[in-house]
Amino acid sequence: MSPTRVLVLNSGSSSVKYQLLDMRDGSRLAVGLVERIGEESSQLKHTPLATGETRGFTAAVPDHDAALKAVAAELAKDGLGLDSPELAAIGHRVVHGGKHFTAPTVVDDTVLAEIERLIPVAPLHNPANLTGIRTARALRPDLPQVAVFDTAFHTTMPESAARYAIDVRTADEHRIRRYGFHGTSHAYVSRATAELLGRAPEEVNVIVLHLGNGASASAVRGGRCVDTSMGLTPLEGLVMGTRSGDMDPAVIFHLMRVGGMSADEIDTLLNKKSGLIGLCGDNDMREIRRRIDEGDEAAQLAFDIYVHRLKKYIGAYYAVLGRVDAVAFTAGVGENAAPVRAAAVAGLEALGLTVDGELNAVRGDAPRLISPADARVAVAVVPTDEELEIATQTYALVKAAQGRP
Ligand code: AMP
Repeated sequence: MSPTRVLVLNSGSSSVKYQLLDMRDGSRLAVGLVERIGEESSQLKHTPLATGETRGFTAAVPDHDAALKAVAAELAKDGLGLDSPELAAIGHRVVHGGKHFTAPTVVDDTVLAEIERLIPVAPLHNPANLTGIRTARALRPDLPQVAVFDTAFHTTMPESAARYAIDVRTADEHRIRRYGFHGTSHAYVSRATAELLGRAPEEVNVIVLHLGNGASASAVRGGRCVDTSMGLTPLEGLVMGTRSGDMDPAVIFHLMRVGGMSADEIDTLLNKKSGLIGLCGDNDMREIRRRIDEGDEAAQLAFDIYVHRLKKYIGAYYAVLGRVDAVAFTAGVGENAAPVRAAAVAGLEALGLTVDGELNAVRGDAPRLISPADARVAVAVVPTDEELEIATQTYALVKAAQGRP
């Protein structure tokens, strides 16, 4: 029988998250992560789904090579080792694929060199992603390694949406354009939304709101992305847990000239100390809601700013698409925070957007509609599954390369 398992690896600078899936039905066989790689007290947590019992250790894991070997050892204890003939491929999340990578790609030396060439536009992410790929390749050189890019889904954006209105030569020289991120999630959720409506993705226009700690919106026409809120980096667009999202770029010159701050300090300010945490000291929407219930004004203002930006993007993408069939909420906040969903579409009845209070309050893991049955535009909660999407794309590519149906 042909191998049907895919290992999905998400390698960060000091962590590796992984899931092993069986692509016959997309089920999980094992999930886990290694955190604080390079420190004395690295931590591994591993859960085989057969028992559901999490085990692991806290000990020094010096580098990604050691981390992956530790993961392989845990998987082997469950009879799921990396040497298993049932393993079809390893799928790697790669954050930045630039303009070049428009689809998942089987990794070879040329692909690695190209991902490396993109490091200047993704200094925080691509080096760690590369380390993960190189380590996995060394462990199983015979196995297809597939890179699945966060940016790929957005490469269909027209130039009118992807270009910044700055000097073209400067932009081209430094590869400055809007790339977009969370693409794997936007692809999965837009397709799953069409499925929820019982229609083909090609027929449906969807606004996807991926609201996690990082947050982005996208306008998807007939299954293809035509605009998205993140840009050269994941800093642009919506208000996020710790990132500012959109603002006048002159704030940066002002902070340099008047505030005496360095580029690195401003980078940290806007990426790590802004957004919800900068506004009210908390980046977790649960905590912000709790504080609002207690009458906390800073939390209320943070919530209002968050929702105001969200609403602006819904309106903007409505205009970009012309006709909208569905608005889909996903990720930690989008899937769980009913007050955010209600506030984001409040007052948009003229656009055909309303939320049914009772449906919105229902909790669950399945994709579901929260708009009234007769609503002109469907409003939906569609839980994202980036690992399943990476595994699905990886498996499809490997099967196609082998000429399998
Ligand atoms: P993610 O990046 O998709 O994992 O989302 C993480 C964020 O989701 C957290 O920082 C919270 O703000 C938010 N979140 C998670 N669970 C809930 C919940 N039950 N209610 C409201 N917000 C939630």
